Amino acid sequence: MKKIAVFPGSFDPITLGHVSVIKRAIPLFDQVIIAIGDNADKKHMFTAKQRENWIREVFKNEPKVTIEIYSGLTVEFCKQRNVHFILRGLRTSADFEFERSIAQINRRLAPEVDTLFILTESQYTPISSSIVRDVIRNNGNISEFVPPEVKV
Ligand code: ADP
Repeated sequence: MKKIAVFPGSFDPITLGHVSVIKRAIPLFDQVIIAIGDNADKKHMFTAKQRENWIREVFKNEPKVTIEIYSGLTVEFCKQRNVHFILRGLRTSADFEFERSIAQINRRLAPEVDTLFILTESQYTPISSSIVRDVIRNNGNISEFVPPEVKV
């Protein structure tokens, strides 16, 4: 059986923190699906297509990485593709509390799917897409926080 992980997120935009988690997951799995959430109830700064294009550029030389846009429940996305692992990154204890409840609810919804966590590299702990968006809105320089493929 192929070991496949889904890394779900908004990636609005993708940051160096996300890239680091994905790169560290690649040796552990046969395939990593980056699943870009596009839910109508969430206001995004960048369109799903734009977010996808940047991620595609970043991982163009990684044959194990595939990219999809999805909406709805992550566990439904996993079930449809027969995926048994959800990958998430952890930065802080606040992330942990938030992720814990999502992962435990997901287990109830789909006991065949497990969530695995990768702890962020220390230099990426303060980076979040929402802070990057704030810097963009205020015309600041984001080059230290996002991969060079993200051009805004
Ligand atoms: P969501 O809207 O689902 O939280 P994000 O795109 O913000 O989506 O994050 C996707 C995943 O990446 C989450 O598991 C989040 O904790 C993780 N993540 C975000 N920023 C970092 C970072 N700097 N280091 C490690 N993991 C991160």
